[in-house]
Amino acid sequence: MNPVNILGVTVLSGVMSMAVLGSLLRAEIPGVGCWVVANALSIVALICFASQGHVSALLSVLVANVLLAATALTGLEGFRRFFGRSGLPVTGLVGLAAVGAGIAYWQWVMPDFNARVALVSAFHAAINATLAVIVLRERPPDRAKYSYYFVAVTASLVAVGHAVRGMTYGLGLLSQARLLESSAVNIAFLALGILALPTLSIGMVMLAHDRMAERLRKLASIDDLTGAFTRREFLARADALLRSAARTGTPVTLAAIDIDHFKSINDQHGHAAGDKVLMHFASMVMEDVRTGDVFGRLGGEEFGVMCPATRAGEAVVLLNRLRDRLAASGYRLGSSPGGVLHYTFSVGVDQFRADEPLSALMARADAALYRAKASGRNRVVEAVQAEGG
Ligand code: GH3
Ligand code: MG
Ligand code: MG
Repeated sequence: MNPVNILGVTVLSGVMSMAVLGSLLRAEIPGVGCWVVANALSIVALICFASQGHVSALLSVLVANVLLAATALTGLEGFRRFFGRSGLPVTGLVGLAAVGAGIAYWQWVMPDFNARVALVSAFHAAINATLAVIVLRERPPDRAKYSYYFVAVTASLVAVGHAVRGMTYGLGLLSQARLLESSAVNIAFLALGILALPTLSIGMVMLAHDRMAERLRKLASIDDLTGAFTRREFLARADALLRSAARTGTPVTLAAIDIDHFKSINDQHGHAAGDKVLMHFASMVMEDVRTGDVFGRLGGEEFGVMCPATRAGEAVVLLNRLRDRLAASGYRLGSSPGGVLHYTFSVGVDQFRADEPLSALMARADAALYRAKASGRNRVVEAVQAEGG
């Protein structure tokens, strides 16, 4: 339990953290670059601290403390970027400058070890408290809490540790002459402070992984082109809606939608224009759907909308309203004034019947859609009508 050994172990763990975080650089997650730099800074800072007594105080006190403060600030900046905040706040840089000036003053002008400890601890306490607040505030509500709380709790404990250390020395409850004394209290504070680095690095890796998992989930659930749910996600959500409707006995309606003569839109205007029409159509639908409605792209130009707490008749009204809006606006192709493309869609609608699987409901909505196509397109057909003739 010698202070130099503790610093040495922390340097090694800093190297490992750099390697792990460095491997995540390719994922281009905002903030990870800062975290790698923070670990590099900490390694140099700790080596400077550990060489106290062998090199000048300029290096082992001033440079070491400024580098460690820069480590904390760079780490915090990484978390800020991770959460989409930009621009290092001036207060951080002012704090860093104050650490440098204060250390120099209490090292050479008015030598005072306790004052230096109080100043540096105040800085680290403030940075870590800020970090805890940012993580708690910016935590994405739809992600598992664990890794975010891990970072927030670690940062809070570190902030408290620094605050206690700063007060202990600042109020003169303890006094010592230099950092690397082997007193029990000093070693305890050093160990706690230094454990913060690898623990926070683990938190950084957890957050980076959570961001990658979030991206994958998004890729699998959101259709790139239209922003609608993918078929897979649509089916999963529709199934969940049916199960909850079966429990509560509320109506649910499915609309199967297919754009009319889409092939000829592609043939006449090109595939890229076809893509734009798909995007336009999806955005029109998304303006119309209500919270709770599930809108997905089931295939090329086929979509589904599952409407909870909605009877088939109501869904028919909603979709006819969408048809009218689309007929009125059309889609502006390119920038030419007259270049408005008018396209239409057909819909088959049916309501969920108790205890049937999703596939049965989809089959009836599809049959109704087929009727809508067969009877001339550009219309909404309810399955009961279709069945009746
Ligand atoms: P109908 O009125 O009977 O529905 O005729 P349609 O031409 O819309 O139907 P069909 O199923 O024959 O053609 C669908 C076309 O959609 C064929 C396919 O090339 C095109 N398509 C599928 N996915 C995409 C896509 O992502 N982008 C574009 N531009 N076209 C697509
Ligand atoms: Mg089709
Ligand atoms: Mg079609």
